[in-house]
Amino acid sequence: MSDCGCDSHAHGLISYHAALQQLLDAAVHMPETEVVSTAEALGRVLAETVVSGIDVPPADNSAMDGYAIRAADAASENDVNLPIAQRIPAGTIGKPLEAGTAARIFTGAPIPPDADAVLMQEVCKAADGNVSFSGPVKAGLNVRKAGEDINNGSEILSPGIRIRPQEMGLLASVGVGSIEVYRRLRVAIFFTGDELIEPGEPLQPGQIYDSNRYTLLGLLDTLGCDVVDLGVVGDTLGATKQAFRDAAGQADLVITSGGVSVGEEDHVRIAMEQEGELNMWRIAIKPGKPLAYGKVHGVPFLGLPGNPVSVFVTFCLFVSPVIKRMQGMDTVLAQAVPIRAGFDWLRPGKRREFLRARLEHDASGDVTAAIYHHQGSGVLTSTSWAGGLVEIPEGATVSAGQLVDFLPFSEFLS
Ligand code: AMP
Ligand code: MG
Repeated sequence: MSDCGCDSHAHGLISYHAALQQLLDAAVHMPETEVVSTAEALGRVLAETVVSGIDVPPADNSAMDGYAIRAADAASENDVNLPIAQRIPAGTIGKPLEAGTAARIFTGAPIPPDADAVLMQEVCKAADGNVSFSGPVKAGLNVRKAGEDINNGSEILSPGIRIRPQEMGLLASVGVGSIEVYRRLRVAIFFTGDELIEPGEPLQPGQIYDSNRYTLLGLLDTLGCDVVDLGVVGDTLGATKQAFRDAAGQADLVITSGGVSVGEEDHVRIAMEQEGELNMWRIAIKPGKPLAYGKVHGVPFLGLPGNPVSVFVTFCLFVSPVIKRMQGMDTVLAQAVPIRAGFDWLRPGKRREFLRARLEHDASGDVTAAIYHHQGSGVLTSTSWAGGLVEIPEGATVSAGQLVDFLPFSEFLS
């Protein structure tokens, strides 16, 4: 990819990286914690270091259904025939294994003292209380060693990670039934525009459905936030100011969409100027150029553009890292994956473009990034079709086959 290397050609625009850095510098981690049960920990951000108080597995145990023996009893290449001296199902403990005997054993059952190998039942013949098989057998065969997953005293999780199903299982595997997590971030949202109505209502001339509300509800829920949903606020200065006061009184962060341009119906800007401090950026990105930020009664505020795709993309690029920082996550930035472009992008843009894209297999079976055929900022279909964003720097062009940065949506939303 050819990249001019400069932040922006366009005058009056702030670069993507400069805007992101400023927002992250201003984002403050909310340090309050609470204790939740491991069963309810999904999506929460861990606030403590978790150290295992046990070995996992706690004892040497059998990896197979079969017969536990002393490997020394089957050291040579001969057929071996041993009496079956005991039976050890999972959940029970065997007696010490006498030399010259075998124990019937099942997967997960502890290896009895003095045994050191397990023959899987498929290679054995059992008849008349004896088991026969052929040697030699190596010590350790089919034995899962105590502590081979986790050692007693070792650190298994550190603060700042978001708990996924895997971590829930891992916590349970060491017997941890509750953990300390950061409290949920409370995010207030509202929307301005007299054209907006709720889905489920019939559409009247001049109206559109308030899709941004639902996009944001889903995004915030995915990031484990509590949402204070103030819904649609009338396009008047008084209603917008009241909404800001309500939002700031209940939340750690206030997010709106729309109404931040200079149109006379755009009251968010004026309301914010009267209720708090407002800054406006024109960011050198596409989609989503205008972004407002500031503080309303001391609470951070982010004003997203109104166009539905811009809402989704600016949330991913700016709001997600800010929320993650406020939640106390240690990794807040998305990690791009280099993928071969399955498309040409031959017109260099003045703004950095974030194209809705997904991975596809080309004719020879290689993975390439395909882009949606319509990249308009109102085309919400593109966000549903896509699995991520392809990032094309200012002034860059791309020819099919070149490597581009692919940002999977999961990087922003986990
Ligand atoms: P605005 O920034 O308010 O001028 O809005 C820009 C565009 O986004 C207009 O076409 C609006 O109708 C549209 N828009 C604003 N808010 C929403 C919303 N909540 N849901 C869907 N579209 C919206
Ligand atoms: Mg509007």
